[in-house]
Amino acid sequence: MNTNTSLITKKSKEIFAAAQKLMPGGVSSPVRAFKSVNGEPVVFDRVKGAYAWDVDGNQYIDYVGTWGPAICGHAHPEVINALNKALENGTSFGAPSLLENILAEMVIEAVPSIEMVRFVNSGTEACMSVLRLMRAFTGREKIIKFEGCYHGHADMFLVKAGSGVATLGLPDSPGVPKSTTASTLTAPYNDLEAVKNLFKEHPDDIAGIILEPVVGNSGFIKPDPGFLEGLRELTTVNNALLTFDEVMTGFRIAYGGAQQKLGVTPDLTTLGKVIGGGLPVGAYGGRADIMSMIAPAGPVYQAGTLSGNPLAMTAGIKTLEILQRPATYEKLEEITKQLNEELLKIAKNKGHAVCGSYSGAMFGLFFTEGPVHNYSDAKRSDLNKFSRFHRGMLEKGVYLAPSQFEAGFMSLAHTFKDIEQTLAAANDVLSNL
Ligand SMILES: *Cc1c(COP(=O)(O)O)cnc(C)c1O
Repeated sequence: MNTNTSLITKKSKEIFAAAQKLMPGGVSSPVRAFKSVNGEPVVFDRVKGAYAWDVDGNQYIDYVGTWGPAICGHAHPEVINALNKALENGTSFGAPSLLENILAEMVIEAVPSIEMVRFVNSGTEACMSVLRLMRAFTGREKIIKFEGCYHGHADMFLVKAGSGVATLGLPDSPGVPKSTTASTLTAPYNDLEAVKNLFKEHPDDIAGIILEPVVGNSGFIKPDPGFLEGLRELTTVNNALLTFDEVMTGFRIAYGGAQQKLGVTPDLTTLGKVIGGGLPVGAYGGRADIMSMIAPAGPVYQAGTLSGNPLAMTAGIKTLEILQRPATYEKLEEITKQLNEELLKIAKNKGHAVCGSYSGAMFGLFFTEGPVHNYSDAKRSDLNKFSRFHRGMLEKGVYLAPSQFEAGFMSLAHTFKDIEQTLAAANDVLSNL
């Protein structure tokens, strides 16, 4: 049980010190380094269900879920079993396999906009490929993205790109040629007028819009009523394409993603995280007439040595099978709602300025009065207070994403008891902030 009040992190410290000499910042991806909460990360040893254990033996209730994929709980026994069987047949084919058909059919059946799909190895790859496709299909170069939305780390998207970049205070990254981002137009999230103006300023030049239909990368932010509908209308009228980046929201906000839950159908969609069930996967898909432009069916080149590999396909198929079972999303939403609403209530009772919301199995809490409609609003949060909150929760055995600008992730493995324990920890921590 997590009664630890001051965490012993001796081994974590040693390993992380060594890591910093071996890898830039000691990590394989920046946010993991805990810089945005002015702390040092704990080094993980293993994960199971709703829990993570660090190398010093501390146990945490995990609300990061490896940044989204672990929606069935870490190391779900059925996923592990399926993977063990798949391993016997080899780890990569580099050739067509039936497993790809099975996962493709599941994705096409689930996600309203997807008629055909291409598998890749990460969300980054999916987004950079879908951008190439948007430009090829329309014969136009400019794209619109929103401030604080993250679409992976490809050059063209590293403009006002949300959490990881925001957290490190890098508005744009060095090494990105101006020419690559010259065609990337940005607007504030939830600001339809700004998008209208961009279409007016650049008539017949805009290939399309890409956005997170529900934002998870500037903290958790929902679209205002009418925003997604407005973008659908504007893109249609201007012969431009609408792409939902559902790498985070796909199979998490609802089985069919945010587009199913909110009833707005884009032309193209990117996926990742959940559909890999914890293995490296991304995918992009959409209207068959557009997807048919991808090689070898069409002229738009995109390839991948390990794409569609049998392990990733197997983990994805099993994960989606589990998610298809009755009442899955009802349960996810019920526990997410309870955690989010109670957390807000406790924080307000203790006199903190907070706001937040949830959808499906995703939630967020900002240390600001709010309301938060976009990234500028999110940036008004008290980041020092968030850092202290984060550290306090960690010391009480609750692992939250180490940045105010990240969302929280719930899984089927989280129990009401885990939530009670989390709320008790929050009650203590929020009393002494
Ligand atoms: C995580 C994420 C990506 C990038 O996916 P990777 O697998 O980390 O490359 C892209 N878009 C969104 C919305 C994401 O949350």
